[in-house]
Amino acid sequence: MPDPMPGYDVAELRALDRQHVWHPYGPMPGRQEPLVVESASGVRLRLAEEAHGQRELVDGMASWWAALHGYRHPVLDEAVRGQLDRMSHVMFGGLTHEPAVRLSAKLVEITPEPLQHVFLSDSGSVSVEVAIKMCLQYWKSVGQPRKQRLLTWRGGYHGDTWQPMSVCDPDGGMHSLWSGRLPEQVFADAPPTGYDAEPDEAYVRHLREVIARHADEVAAVIVEPVVQNAGGMRFHSPGYLRVLRELCDDYGVLLVFDEIATGFGRTGTLFASEHAAVSPDVLCVGKALTGGYLSMAATLCTTRVAEGISSGEVPVLAHGPTYMGNPLAASVACASIDLLLSQDWQGEIKRLETGMRDGLGELVGTPGVKDVRVLGAIGVVQLDHDVDMAAATRAAVREGVWLRPFRDLVYTMPPYVTNDEDLARICRAVGAAAREG
Ligand SMILES: *Cc1c(COP(=O)(O)O)cnc(C)c1O
Repeated sequence: MPDPMPGYDVAELRALDRQHVWHPYGPMPGRQEPLVVESASGVRLRLAEEAHGQRELVDGMASWWAALHGYRHPVLDEAVRGQLDRMSHVMFGGLTHEPAVRLSAKLVEITPEPLQHVFLSDSGSVSVEVAIKMCLQYWKSVGQPRKQRLLTWRGGYHGDTWQPMSVCDPDGGMHSLWSGRLPEQVFADAPPTGYDAEPDEAYVRHLREVIARHADEVAAVIVEPVVQNAGGMRFHSPGYLRVLRELCDDYGVLLVFDEIATGFGRTGTLFASEHAAVSPDVLCVGKALTGGYLSMAATLCTTRVAEGISSGEVPVLAHGPTYMGNPLAASVACASIDLLLSQDWQGEIKRLETGMRDGLGELVGTPGVKDVRVLGAIGVVQLDHDVDMAAATRAAVREGVWLRPFRDLVYTMPPYVTNDEDLARICRAVGAAAREG
């Protein structure tokens, strides 16, 4: 591989990083030394120097669930390069361009039919902010200004900016520091777990009761469909999504699905809402949208929501990110979606699912392991204790794999292009991390 930064000194880089660079969810300076990545190709990260006997790591995280097709994919590289020769960016106010229009039309085409309009933004959290703004403004615009709260179930995660934080799990989450400051939303209990479990009658009654009680003040229900991701990697029955759709219709509440983690095949269907054959009023996508190349997200909504907002006292959606519709990101997003749909992606995800059921299934009964669960290209091992992150990471790196365990979870969301041999290696590493962490 070519050296991307000829002549740089790794020790110096690490020292500068420690001195100046803030990393996600960390203190300043950081307590753990981050590994220095020099380049990446296929499913492998190449380190600038050896760590625990390894210079290359199979990426079991797909760069926070985004890099579906792996790194330096020739088709995606070419999409960015080709666009670079035309323009890397122009403002989106008063101007438009092919990559953004093509991407928006494509998103409308592949998502549930009622979703017809697309607002592009730079990150998942911002797409959730936009979704919330849409819902609150919708009810203001149609003359029901009291409907300004949100309702969600516990155990969710919707991002790190202010409004999304207010609908993250209020207890287990990373944002409990701000309780009392954040907008106070309405929380239902977490959905009972198990993808295959029959919907629980008592829980359905609970949902109905909470929604009915707050219907006059609630603008929207927002949930992650089928899989609650960063809130605890928990799966639930798609039946609850059908229940939510019915309750929202009965009580005049909008329904928002946050598919930032589940979109683009991760759970085995292109979007997780398809497990329930239900369409939300508003949908957020992000993460894998650009195949892990550039930061972009989108908020889709129905014509009813768009017309409601546009007929209001302030008939505009007052939002406009500087880099809205970025042509480089939109081009690579189009290429990534086309690439995904041009293959037997369902077959590939089935292959990963089967491989993880075999590879991780062996961990059932291991001391310290509480649960093993797999859905689509998501493999989760839940421990009966909080993971020792340093020890677990070290154990995975020794196996030649990059994992990022959190709380009581060691999990993998591999790139879809991971071959069977590399997948087996990831499963071994999850096992090692679960035993040693
Ligand atoms: C990651 C994530 C977000 C936030 O996206 P960012 O791009 O990190 O802002 C929101 N919702 C869900 C479900 C996510 O997994």
